[in-house]
Amino acid sequence: MKPMRIKQVLAREAAGGDVMIQGWIRTKRDSKGFSFLEINDGSMMANIQVVADEKLANYASEIVPLTTGASVAIEGTLVDSPGKGQKYEIHAERIMVFGGADAASYPLQKKRHSFEFLRTIAHLRPRTNTFGAIARVRSGLSFAIHQFFRDRGFVYVHTPIITASDCEGAGEMFKVTTLDLANVPRTPNGAIDFEQDFFGKPANLTVSGQLEGEIFATALSNIYTFGPTFRAENSNTARHLAEFWMIEPEMAFCDLDGDMDLAEAFLQETIQYLFDHHMEDLEFFNQRIDTTVLETLHNIVDNPFERLSYTDAMAILVKHNDEFEYKVQWGSDIQTEHERHLSETVFKKPVIVTDYPKSIKAFYMKLNGDDRTVRAMDILAPRIGEIIGGSQREDDIATLERRMREFNLDPKDYWWYLDLRRYGSVPHSGFGLGFERMLLLVTGMTNIRDVIPFPRTPKNAEF
Ligand code: ATP
Ligand code: MN
Repeated sequence: MKPMRIKQVLAREAAGGDVMIQGWIRTKRDSKGFSFLEINDGSMMANIQVVADEKLANYASEIVPLTTGASVAIEGTLVDSPGKGQKYEIHAERIMVFGGADAASYPLQKKRHSFEFLRTIAHLRPRTNTFGAIARVRSGLSFAIHQFFRDRGFVYVHTPIITASDCEGAGEMFKVTTLDLANVPRTPNGAIDFEQDFFGKPANLTVSGQLEGEIFATALSNIYTFGPTFRAENSNTARHLAEFWMIEPEMAFCDLDGDMDLAEAFLQETIQYLFDHHMEDLEFFNQRIDTTVLETLHNIVDNPFERLSYTDAMAILVKHNDEFEYKVQWGSDIQTEHERHLSETVFKKPVIVTDYPKSIKAFYMKLNGDDRTVRAMDILAPRIGEIIGGSQREDDIATLERRMREFNLDPKDYWWYLDLRRYGSVPHSGFGLGFERMLLLVTGMTNIRDVIPFPRTPKNAEF
């Protein structure tokens, strides 16, 4: 018989007929003459109940000893379940045991485990309800993101993971080298001789695919990247990973307003996809993780985002300085506490803050006529703070070169980036969205280590 996924079995219109399923035992209960097995195969949140009669040939030898975590295949008849909360159950005719699970050492028990504990067994946590749901939602959201861009004619570009251009956030990058660290070659003046290194110059893991994304946007008009990103920031926060996934669209012939429109539609439509395809998991998060998740998500989908300038945002924030740990004034960076104040307390929905002081934003952002602010935009989400950071890019070559020098960057190192302004320069814009930040938003989870399968954070790269 051909095995089915439990999701397909439970979607059947009526009971009756034989089915075969395969999965892992979540719980088992023995009563007189029967055992009840709850089987999960990850296709959905729900388990299916299997009734195993003592008349089964291997009942005493193999079924009775089964415990939580063991893997089995079951053939039997699908019948209406008399029990509450489940539609069908399977009356087993045959049970094959693949692998047992030693009950004394199997770490997952029926009781609830803390997320801290589950992080220490990240190889088994996908077998819990919460982490199964996160994995499904993560996969579904990835698909929704690709679909969103594909529907709009965006080309998916793979930007490099290893980069040799010392871009943006120097100091936060992971070095990539094959030099013998115990015996590093030196130049006559004592510096590391990178000419002997693999790439003949210093190389790093990428902190953003944007600059390369701009190359393709100025040829294919609309592109996006979706790939791993690395930041060696030694900040042990619940919002930062050393390895995370970033989505970065880049659009030619597009100004900051178009950029904001796209970002807003992006969040709304991809969340709508989750409503349409992952409601069972979202309801689980809403019940068990954070009872405000669904309300927050509906609020995002149903209402236009608030848009205001940094200057206007500051005017609001300075009035509440007594409530903040970090006091702000015009020119200050906006920290998570301020971001949350705006999105949760003041506007109660996502807020797009635009036109930040040039001193606190990157060199490539388009300078405004006031020479003080740049065409940047950050989207601040309730509970999360910054979820998207974007900007219109400086497309005037002279201004861009001047801005590089202000940031102590050598325009020579960016010759190819400047070429994009030298040949057929166009207004263009884009943004970066941290995929795991969005997963925090949609799941209600509070620690970013729990929404990526294998978190990399300072002092942690097990599994
Ligand atoms: P933050 O101030 O929160 O550190 P950032 O200003 O460094 O963010 P950007 O450089 O604009 O962020 O990166 C774009 C997006 O990538 C952010 O809006 C955020 O969603 C995400 N992001 C940035 N750093 C991390 C990280 N270390 N782990 C996970 N996501 C991140
Ligand atoms: Mn950062």
